[in-house]
Amino acid sequence: MSRFFDSKFMSLEAYVPGEQPRDKKYIKLNTNESPFPPCPAVLEAMNRSAAADLRLYSDPTSLEVKRAVADFYGVAPECVFVSNGSDEALNFLFMAFAENGAAYPDITYGFYQVFADLYGKKTAVVPLEEDFSIDPAKLKQCTENRTLFLANPNAPTGICLPPDVIESILLAGRDRLVVVDEAYIDFGGESVIPLTQKYDNLAVVQTFSKSRQLAGARLGFTIANPALIDGLEKIKYSTNPYNVNRLTQLCGVLAMQDRVYFDKTRAQIIENRAYTAAELKKRGFAMTDSRANFLFARSDRMSGRDYYDGLRERGVLVRYFDKTRIYDYVRITIGSRAEMDALIAATDDLLAEREA
Ligand SMILES: *Cc1c(COP(=O)(O)O)cnc(C)c1O
Repeated sequence: MSRFFDSKFMSLEAYVPGEQPRDKKYIKLNTNESPFPPCPAVLEAMNRSAAADLRLYSDPTSLEVKRAVADFYGVAPECVFVSNGSDEALNFLFMAFAENGAAYPDITYGFYQVFADLYGKKTAVVPLEEDFSIDPAKLKQCTENRTLFLANPNAPTGICLPPDVIESILLAGRDRLVVVDEAYIDFGGESVIPLTQKYDNLAVVQTFSKSRQLAGARLGFTIANPALIDGLEKIKYSTNPYNVNRLTQLCGVLAMQDRVYFDKTRAQIIENRAYTAAELKKRGFAMTDSRANFLFARSDRMSGRDYYDGLRERGVLVRYFDKTRIYDYVRITIGSRAEMDALIAATDDLLAEREA
């Protein structure tokens, strides 16, 4: 590290994204992207004229995206903040809305820990139960009005809390902000966006990366009461006013407007998830009840590491977390039916090799 690097960041452990290897072509089931292309209108809009407009700055207010999101969810545009991926919104929320510190489960999205460290926040880590379910009582008890970051469905377990449980958490501490990260909500959970109209201690963060085929465009949004949105805008204008580029704004509006494609593709993921879960179960795997576009699976016949390595050798990439409590598991993104069949075939081949 350079001797000019600020010493307070010396021990910071940065977020490690899922690998994007180039050594050969893999079936990529490791970063929860969609196996489907963006909707037809998005593909069509990416033309010469859209590219020519790149000489101009993007709309710093992302107004068209705000309107499309507001229209979809039945809220006012003033309740919407648009960000460069949802990671940027989470960054701003940690930066500016966690004065009393942050709280999150021990097994959850790894970025929460990174942001907490980056900003030197006091943290309370709430342990999940043995089966990775969340005991709401433990979240309610969580002390000193620390901002609660809750991925729902949780990552990488896929386990989802219903809205009434989240409402009870909001009610248990009206002076504590709760951030619900709904990156995976479109694959079988119920959003708490409607509760943002009733509770000023709730912010809901969503992304276009998982259910709207735009991971590479970097687009996310937050829905909350207008006062909270103003705070996020203030941070944005103090860091990067043109945070969302022109092409991404255009794609986001079109993707949000094509409800038919959205429903068709997420239904396909849900169907492929049920198919894959049943096939893995036949082969003795155990899984959490995932409502996300991935399965969290383990086998008594091999360690998580061995399953990950064996699949990788066979050209299938999944995500393995070398972490206490979850090192027996791998996280498998739900892809197309053909990709899932390739995963099953690679699994059979690996099991046969190990039994031989
Ligand atoms: C993928 C993911 C995000 C980040 O999404 P981007 O919009 O691509 O930044 C945030 N939270 C969770 C839980 C995720 O899995």
